[in-house]
Amino acid sequence: MSQNKAPKNNVFYRNQNWHYPKIDRGEGIYLFDVNGKRYIDACSGSAVANIGHGNQEIAAYTAEQMKRIAFTHLSRWTVDTIEECAAKVAEWTPGDLNHVYFVSGGSEATETAIKMARQYFTERDGKETKKWKVISKWHAFHGNTMGALSMTGIPERRRIYEPMLLDFPKAPQFYHYRNPWGCETLEETSIRAAQALESEILKQGAENIAAFITEPVVGAACPGIHPTRIYFEMVREICNRYDVLLIVDEVMAGFGRTGKKFGVDHYGIIPDIITAAKGMSCGYTPMGAAIASQKIFDTIMVEGSGQFIHGHTYAGNPLSCGIAAKVMEILERGHVVENAETQGEYFMEKLHSLYQYPIVGDIRGKGLMIGIEFVKDQKTKEPFEAQQNIKGKFTANCMEEGIVPYPGGGAVDGIHGDHVLIAPPLSITREQIDELFEGLERGIRRTVEEFAT
Ligand code: PLP
Repeated sequence: MSQNKAPKNNVFYRNQNWHYPKIDRGEGIYLFDVNGKRYIDACSGSAVANIGHGNQEIAAYTAEQMKRIAFTHLSRWTVDTIEECAAKVAEWTPGDLNHVYFVSGGSEATETAIKMARQYFTERDGKETKKWKVISKWHAFHGNTMGALSMTGIPERRRIYEPMLLDFPKAPQFYHYRNPWGCETLEETSIRAAQALESEILKQGAENIAAFITEPVVGAACPGIHPTRIYFEMVREICNRYDVLLIVDEVMAGFGRTGKKFGVDHYGIIPDIITAAKGMSCGYTPMGAAIASQKIFDTIMVEGSGQFIHGHTYAGNPLSCGIAAKVMEILERGHVVENAETQGEYFMEKLHSLYQYPIVGDIRGKGLMIGIEFVKDQKTKEPFEAQQNIKGKFTANCMEEGIVPYPGGGAVDGIHGDHVLIAPPLSITREQIDELFEGLERGIRRTVEEFAT
């Protein structure tokens, strides 16, 4: 064996060509690396650290709860933290979405939701029901496990796994900036996008469709895209008409990210299932949930078999549930969701000045879930070539400036977008928004200069 070993890289996901700064600690919206450099965490990890880093109240609570009881299995025991967390989640969710099935992350949440949908129809109509397919959208992300990836509409993520994926149909995304119908108004795009869902249901046969899943504000796949109330009202009506469950994937948008408790609160409709994770525990523990409406709970648990055929070891563990309940208490006490709305509006106003830079094509979002799309030509919306990696270069330039954005998305069927997600902790102050904006602007200037030379 060679004595001359290369530096060790035991962490599988690390790309050899990328320099990973080593983080020492976090405090509020800031991260500090081991060399003392300070960064603004402009994406909260991946829209996770909504109450910021280093929260001492959570740290003290976690230590106490760990000493009391860290783990019990949900199939045999209950603990006050589990019940309190479920009750609090039910208070936060709209309508009759009151039945919380805990899991440990976003992909588990979306997997759980589609199994719930399948079991709902099986219990209601019998085993012969053909309803199993789930329609999702292109330019959408629902996770990386096989069921979740089958719903994810990002070709680069699917490509090599395609033979292993479920045959789930796709509808077009509500992507007004690059809509395939040439619509000029949001209203027109809303109608065309909702009609496209209806066409897909009819093409597949409604008898085969169990659910339609959509993000309320799009996250990693095409950051910041948000449909309209008209679209969601039409989607709700279409789902009702064809007996299709509506799943809204709030894994990124939920728990305050968009300036409302849930993204769907912007549109005034009630889904059948909401999925959540990320901001539910703000990164202090792995956590997620699929939250079901009364009719789903009753059909499976009251009138049906009384058992949802599913489960994960860490589902509903007392520690994670306690932390999630504490997070909601902190969000409420500090009016943090309202802060996300106010700071989001202030930030968006400032961001609009970035259109002065020729590479900025579209800026969109709700609350503190904001996407910036880069283009080669503002007028024609011509995108950069993928190999130019503008989002990667912009991200690297921002990192130099002490700002951490999140590169997102990619091309779908020739509809290209090169975007980043900006999603700082929801506890951010106005002064910190100014600081973040200035850093982002410096990052854009550096990128413009780089592409001009
Ligand atoms: N759904 C949405 C909307 C997401 O944004 C994500 C993650 O980014 C997921 C699902 C998957 O969550 P996880 O990475 O926790 O499995």
